[in-house]
Amino acid sequence: MMGPAHSLSGAAAWLGVGAIATAAGHGMPWPVLVVGALICAGAALAPDLDQKSATISTSFGPLSRTLAVFIDKLSHGVYKATRKPGDPVRRGGHRTLTHTAVWALLLGAGFAAGAMTGGRWAVLAILFVHVTLAIEGLMWRATRGTSASVLVWLLAAASAWILAGVLDMAGNGSDWFVTGTGPEYAWLGLPILLGAMVHNIGDSLTVSGCPILWPLPIGRKRWYPVGTPRIMRFRAGSWVEVKVLMPTFMVLGGVCGVLALNLF
Ligand SMILES: [Zn+2]
Repeated sequence: MMGPAHSLSGAAAWLGVGAIATAAGHGMPWPVLVVGALICAGAALAPDLDQKSATISTSFGPLSRTLAVFIDKLSHGVYKATRKPGDPVRRGGHRTLTHTAVWALLLGAGFAAGAMTGGRWAVLAILFVHVTLAIEGLMWRATRGTSASVLVWLLAAASAWILAGVLDMAGNGSDWFVTGTGPEYAWLGLPILLGAMVHNIGDSLTVSGCPILWPLPIGRKRWYPVGTPRIMRFRAGSWVEVKVLMPTFMVLGGVCGVLALNLF
């Protein structure tokens, strides 16, 4: 799938978690719902950091482009080192290491650890990066290839500052999920983990599938491309994605948001 569909599915997924939490009697404070949906929308672009032309790789100028080249090399290296005879020979690392559940878990755990130990600046950095990605993802066509990047960074920095302040107020959820006894902001890892997994599931609906289960060997493959039956798959950016999936994500996200906030 393309950036906007990934970001929308990420936001909808977190709103879905919010609806489930409310139904289970452990509703999220509204800032956790809103910030989580934004982070998840941004994190749903993360696995494509293995491709220089992806939205995430162009979102932070030369910094993200250099990182993308490195991640591509790393992914390709891990692919070559762990592939079984049934896995095809590949020239690059796109849709390998960063498109696995293991990577999503590591990413979520890494950011959770950073948020718990790094204090306010770590929380601000996590919010800034993910809000930038959420804006770039959701406004993909409008922001691509223009000088709008600076505006997006300013907007993201301002939002990060305001949202971090809101979260920090008593009862607003800095300690959500660890219920006051554990370290604050541990939950920031959850929307990051969920976003990456939602991206992987989205990619498995498209033509080439996604090696989510690596390093579990399946038959003669360790990078088995998990996906729907071939006949049900569609090409990234096709009408199914734009006309069917994206409106569905919006409606589902809206309904889940209303349920999560207990507005009825
Ligand atoms: Zn992808």
